[in-house]
Amino acid sequence: MRYDYPAGMKPTPVRERERFYREEFETAFLEERMERWKRFVPVIDIGTDSTLYKPRLQELKGKLVRIKEYRDLPHLVEKIGDYAPEDIYYSRTISREGQVDVNPTQELVFRIAPHQLDCRKCDRKRQHMEKQYREYVFCRGCFADAAHHTRNLYMFLERHFDDMDLVYTGRAFHLHVNDEEGFQMQQEDRWELARKVARQFPIQKDITAGDTDLVRLPGSLNGLVSRTVTQLSVSHMTDPDHIIESLSVPDALS
Ligand SMILES: [Zn+2]
Repeated sequence: MRYDYPAGMKPTPVRERERFYREEFETAFLEERMERWKRFVPVIDIGTDSTLYKPRLQELKGKLVRIKEYRDLPHLVEKIGDYAPEDIYYSRTISREGQVDVNPTQELVFRIAPHQLDCRKCDRKRQHMEKQYREYVFCRGCFADAAHHTRNLYMFLERHFDDMDLVYTGRAFHLHVNDEEGFQMQQEDRWELARKVARQFPIQKDITAGDTDLVRLPGSLNGLVSRTVTQLSVSHMTDPDHIIESLSVPDALS
C-alpha cells in the first residue's frame, strides 16, 4: 500500500488495533444507534488495504464482514476485539426485517474529504502514483481546507437541522444529521439537497444522496492512518493540526 499522509500517520499494527478495541474503544455513538435502531450491524474489514491482519483470518481478506449476531454490547465489543479490524463501518439504511421496504429510513450524512480538494502539492505527488493509491494522499494544507469547508457547512446546515454530529474519520470529515426529518427524506429529495449543497461546498454528492450506504463508525479506529474516528465540536475546526496531532491520536499508539 502506498500513501503520503501528514503528522506521521500510518497503518496501525494488528496488536495495537486489538489493544485499542480491548481498552479504549469509545462506544457512545454505537450505543446510541443500537438503542435507536434496535438492530445494528457493524461491517468490518480485517485489513484489505494495509494487508495487516491476524493470519487465522486470512480467508476474510478483501471481504466486508457483517457482524449480525451478538448478544449485547459487551459481546459485540469482544467480537470486534477478536477481529482487531483495520476498519469498522455501519450500514446507515434501516431496513425492517422480513419486509420489502421501498423507502427505508436512512441516516443523512455529508462528507468532505481533503483528497477531493484541489491541492497543487498533493496533485504533484499523485501524478507519480497508481490510480488506486491516489486517495491515500493528503497534506496539512488540503486538510486545513477540508476543515474550513466543513466548519462553514456545519454552520449552513445548522439553519436547517437541530442535531448533528461532526466527525473526523481519520482522513475526511462527516456530518451526521440526527433529526428524524433527515432519516425520513425521500430519495429524490436527498439528491436535490446534495446538488444544492454541492453548489456551495465540496461535498461528496453520492454520500448525501444515500447511494453509498456504509459509513465509518464514530469511536472506532481508522487502521489506515492510526487515528480514532473522533466526534468534534465546531470550535475544533479552527485548529486542524490539533485534530490530527493530538485529539484523534489513540492512547494505544502514543
Ligand atoms: Zn494537499
